[in-house]
Amino acid sequence: MKVTDHIKKAKGETLFTFEIIPPVKGKSIQELYDNIDPLMEFKPPFIDVTTSREEYVYIDRDGLLDKKLTRMRPGTLGICASITHKYDVDTVPHVLCGGFTKEETEYLLVDCHYLGIDNVMALRGDAMREQKYFEATKGGHPYASSLVAQIKQLNDGKYLHEVIETDNCANFCIGVAGYPEKHMEAPSMKSDLKRLKEKVDLGADYVVTQMFFDNEKYFEFVDAAKFYGIDVPIIPGIKPIAVKRHLQLLPQVFRVDLPQDLIDAVEGCKTNKEVRQVGVEWCIQQSKELKRAGVPVLHYYSMGKSDNIKAIAKEVF
Ligand code: FAD
Repeated sequence: MKVTDHIKKAKGETLFTFEIIPPVKGKSIQELYDNIDPLMEFKPPFIDVTTSREEYVYIDRDGLLDKKLTRMRPGTLGICASITHKYDVDTVPHVLCGGFTKEETEYLLVDCHYLGIDNVMALRGDAMREQKYFEATKGGHPYASSLVAQIKQLNDGKYLHEVIETDNCANFCIGVAGYPEKHMEAPSMKSDLKRLKEKVDLGADYVVTQMFFDNEKYFEFVDAAKFYGIDVPIIPGIKPIAVKRHLQLLPQVFRVDLPQDLIDAVEGCKTNKEVRQVGVEWCIQQSKELKRAGVPVLHYYSMGKSDNIKAIAKEVF
């Protein structure tokens, strides 16, 4: 079922969802299940599964380093299929521009369609670790907007090289990313919102936001998006702080601001166990306020761990 239909069916109730990351190559899927199991009691209607960009690894061959391009966390689609099978829940695979040609994307989407997956999250992806800026893959998309257009065309039976007369068109519900504190590369908030509007005009059905720690940023973003004519659901994505190092890491990686009260509380902790508790409490307050404001879904970045998300969900749902 489509994400937008889940939202309609909920009739104003806030839904609980979360996002998981495929395990590192060679690790068992069991750890993932162990972290999903405790969250299923909160009845997520769908679970997002991220896709990682490829990266360079260096293999020592008799003292000489061999540089190889590889994906360390493959298996997004396999995980989607296995989770749907195991838990009878919808899944949302993340589809990236970076690292994929348009042909490869088409094959991936065909697989999604055969698997009965109704939703995909269309993302550009970040620059590879070695790159300063995102560089489009040869034969791939430079921005999420053209990926959205490709998915939309497939919904109309238009494959890359031909229009196929079919009574079996895909009908993907398309999610895209939005940034309450602006995407790091965007020259201004206004220009970023115009780019978001392009994605919606090309066929995006809903938006999931980058994490934020101050709800005002989300509320202002939703108002600004409405002003620019973005009228699809905007799902807040939130994450509990879990370790002291997040104070530096999260602003650096995601370009988000942390409220001073949160910084003070985390800095006052003696152990990471205490930090985890502060993160949970902050996230509970954020979640309760967002829920009171009537957000359609609360989407948690679980980062593969469920104990803190469970503690939050217990208080909120
Ligand atoms: P875009 O929408 O393409 O925007 C990227 C930048 O380009 C923005 O600054 C935008 O303003 C600008 N822009 C857009 N169109 C144009 C244009 N035509 N001309 C000039 N500028 C333009 N990353 C992963 O690798 N894997 C994941 O699974 C993943 N999941 C995510 C889930 C969510 C909810 C979010 C918020 C992010 C996720 N990301 C993931 C990170 C995402 O890939 C990065 O934030 C990336 O840098 C931007 O992706 P985007 O889809 O927002 O890009």
